Parts: sequence; C-alpha cells; structure tokens
Amino acid sequence: MNGVTDGLWIAACANAVAALAITATGRQQPQRGWGLWRTALWLGTGGIALGTAAAARPGVQALAQLLLLPWPILALVGMRRFHARIDWPGHEHHDWWVLGFSAGLVAAAGLWPDDSAIGAVSAPAGTLLVHLYAASLLVCAGSRPDARPMHLLGAVIGLAACAPMIATLPGVEAHALFEASAVTTALASVAMAFIVTTLVFDRSEQHLRASRRRLRALASIDPLTQVPNRRHFEELAAKALQHDPPASAVLMMFDIDHFKHINDRYGHAGGDRALRLVSRCVREVLRVHDVPCRHGGDEFALLLRHASVRDAMRVASRLVERVQGAAVDSSLPTLTLSFGMVQVRPGEALGQALERADQALYEAKRQGRARAVAAGGDRAGPPFIESRPLGLTHA
Ligand code: GH3
Ligand code: MG
Repeated sequence: MNGVTDGLWIAACANAVAALAITATGRQQPQRGWGLWRTALWLGTGGIALGTAAAARPGVQALAQLLLLPWPILALVGMRRFHARIDWPGHEHHDWWVLGFSAGLVAAAGLWPDDSAIGAVSAPAGTLLVHLYAASLLVCAGSRPDARPMHLLGAVIGLAACAPMIATLPGVEAHALFEASAVTTALASVAMAFIVTTLVFDRSEQHLRASRRRLRALASIDPLTQVPNRRHFEELAAKALQHDPPASAVLMMFDIDHFKHINDRYGHAGGDRALRLVSRCVREVLRVHDVPCRHGGDEFALLLRHASVRDAMRVASRLVERVQGAAVDSSLPTLTLSFGMVQVRPGEALGQALERADQALYEAKRQGRARAVAAGGDRAGPPFIESRPLGLTHA
C-alpha cells in the first residue's frame, strides 16, 4: 500500500460514516428526498472503495468513476423533493437527462485510446457537467431564509467540481481523475450529510412548534364557538384583574333563553348554528382587550375591562340588537338573552365575582328573561341595583 491508497481508503471510510449517519437519521425522521441522499452517499462509498481496491484494473476504475458520478444530481433531486414548494428552475427529468448524458461521456472515455484528446477529456467533461449543473441550480433556487442550506450544498458541489478540472490539466495522469474525485466526493459527502441533517432537524422542529401551537389552541379555544373555553377564560381574566386598577372591570354572564326549544325545533345542528351566531356577535361587539368565553352549554361569560355597570348595560343592549338582527338573516327564531352583571370588587377573587354574576343572571331569568340584572357592589346595599329589559321578546 502506498500513501495515495491509504488516503483513498480513509476517504472511503469518511464517506461510509456520512452514509451511515444519513441512513440512521433517515430511519428516525423520514422525509421526502432522503432516500436519494442516502443513495448518493452509498454510491460514493462504493465507488471510492471499488476504485481503490482495483486500482490496477482500468475497466473497474471506469466503473468506479461511474459510481462517483451521480451524487451531485441525486443531491439536487433530493433537494427538489424535500423543498417541493420552491419554484425550482427546470424539472426533475432534466436532471436525469443531464446525468444520463454525463454518464455516456464517462463511459465513452474507455472507447478511445488514453493518449487521444477525446479519451482524456470525455470523462472529466462528464464529471464536470454534473457538478456545475447541480451546483448552479442549487445556488440559484429560492431566496427564502430556509433556502440557505441549499445554497451551501450548491457551493460544496461547486467546489467538488475542482476534481475534474484538475484532471484535465496537461501532464496529469488518467487515474488522477478517480483519485481527485474520490477525495472531493468524500469531503463533499461529509458536508452534505451535515447540511441535510440540519435541514431535516430544522423542519422537524418547525412541525413540532406548529403542533404545539395547535394543541395549545385546542386546549384553550372552544371548537364550536371559537371563543376561549372556561379554563382559558379563568387564566386570562385572573391575569387582567391582577393587572388593572381595582374595581375597573365588569363581569357579565349571559345565557340564551329557552335554548332547549331551539334544539327541539331546529335540531342540534340548528342549536349549534345559534351558538355560533351568538359568539360571532360577541366577538364583533367586544373591544380587543375584553375577554369572552363559552362558560358551558348556552352560557357565556365576558370580562369587560375598564368599564362600569352602565357601560356593560350598553354592551348587553348592543349585543342583543345584533344577535336578533343576525338571527333574522340566518332563519332562526328571535333569540333573547338574559344577563347578570357585577362590578368586580377590589381584591375580589374571580370565582366569587362569577358566583355573584350567576346569581344576577338567575334573577334575570326569574324576572321573566330577555333582560339584564346588575348586582350591587356594596355588601350592605340591596343585592340587585338595576334590571332592564333588552330587545324584542319571543314572537
Ligand atoms: P333558560 O331560558 O332557563 O336558559 O332555558 P334553556 O332552555 O336555555 O335551558 P338551559 O340553558 O338549561 O339549556 C341548555 C341546553 O343547551 C341544554 C343542552 O341540551 C343544550 N346544549 C348544551 N350544549 C350544547 C351544544 O353544544 N349544542 C347544542 N345544540 N345544544 C347544547
Ligand atoms: Mg339557556
């Protein structure tokens, strides 16, 4: 064994390690394009090992050179499939054509005598073509920030194009193409394994973040009405009460009157439609910093920040007006709502305020529905300070 052969075996080992790493990662994180990258690295490993083991046999060396040829194209096509949404120049079948043509040039080298000009240039020209073609497409494709690893891969392939260029220099022996290709392929393979692994981990992390966002929304938003559920409301409202000046918020609970009749007459789907309509009107009527929620069934709770009971009465009245208008447009019967509201006392816990608002709502139902009742803020005063009918009543 001489120094060059040792070096080539080291290159084959480095390539094999890169191929093994890609194979192992691909099992855990299967992605489109991964199979092609894995094939590129194993073909490279096979090519270097074969060419090194059979250095004295020109026929086998030619085969080894052919095995070293496809990796830039496989890297490119893998990237096309991985980033399928990027507007790539050209098409995948163009890539395969270029590979086929280059393989023809490399294979044809053996048909001419070594000392003929065509014999000397044909294989390096084929190898150079696949490198420059793949590198230019990878460097030109996409301008988004996540296209940077692709540009890097393009640059690596572009650098690897030095091998066939060296081999065309005058005075360089024929087997120099294989040796230079083997070394640059091994170096590029290690870089490629690193780049594509980074890419795949980045994408997995993006998916993980998106799933976490979806899960958080599922756990906090009521799927039917798209407003916060009770648990999320309690978090948001408690935080708002802590942050705002004392006694600056009104807690309001309201409920659709005789909702069971809507379910009975229009079916559960009709009832759902009414619930969605009410929640849509709630979102339209509230200000951005107010907090709504579906408290359960046909009952909603709203925290109106920086508001008095008088403001809350106006909000309730606007809401009823809007719901009744929208119900006519949606071929639902006249919907009426009953409200209970309280000015949150300084230092009062949310649960306690909810209980008082619920009692006021119960009082509104007791007084005949379609009205808003406000509980008194003063412990010594009357329990309810105001009761006001709202909107139309049932036809
Ligand atoms: P009241 O005027 O006293 O409020 O009478 P009500 O008929 O509205 O009675 P209540 O508020 O107790 O009824 C709630 C009904 O809402 C009972 C339940 O079948 C129905 N419900 C609860 N959740 C849903 C839902 O997600 N979709 C539909 N369509 N109905 C629901
Ligand atoms: Mg009801």
